[in-house]
Amino acid sequence: MVGVHLAVALVNLESTDSWLPETLEEALQEHQIRRPHVTEPASEQIRAWTKRMRPVFEASSKADRCQSVNALLADGAGSVYLTTHDDLRPHLHFAPDGRDLQSRVKAVTAGGLAIFTMEAEGERLSVCALSSCRTAFVDTSRNGRRAYCSARCANTDAVRRHRRRPR
Ligand SMILES: [Zn+2]
Ligand SMILES: [Zn+2]
Repeated sequence: MVGVHLAVALVNLESTDSWLPETLEEALQEHQIRRPHVTEPASEQIRAWTKRMRPVFEASSKADRCQSVNALLADGAGSVYLTTHDDLRPHLHFAPDGRDLQSRVKAVTAGGLAIFTMEAEGERLSVCALSSCRTAFVDTSRNGRRAYCSARCANTDAVRRHRRRPR
């Protein structure tokens, strides 16, 4: 799930005005990316990559979502192998450990989104239904029917719909 949560964090960071090498580095650190030192060119590359990840969350059909993930896999994932580094349980890596930061970020997000999409049967990756929000999120609820990024957005939308109702 590391790759999916990182993808969500990056997509949401990208859509605010706070994308900086420092804020990016913080996000990478939070998601256990090793050697997360961010240079200006790495920041630019990861930002361009992040813009390509939003369509995975915005996709209106499973087929579209798969297509968006496939495009990421094609450019971001190299050879796939199992690893148990740092005493972690066996998990897949999608790029050799020695690769530069941007390559490893691309690999872990592309691979993570692909595995998640498979396991969630093409669902559970979404953006907030409140049109002024559009925050990306991963739906880990039991029934997988979450429409909003937060209770606050759900309430705001409910109030708006109520006001719009003719009396
Ligand atoms: Zn790992
Ligand atoms: Zn929202």
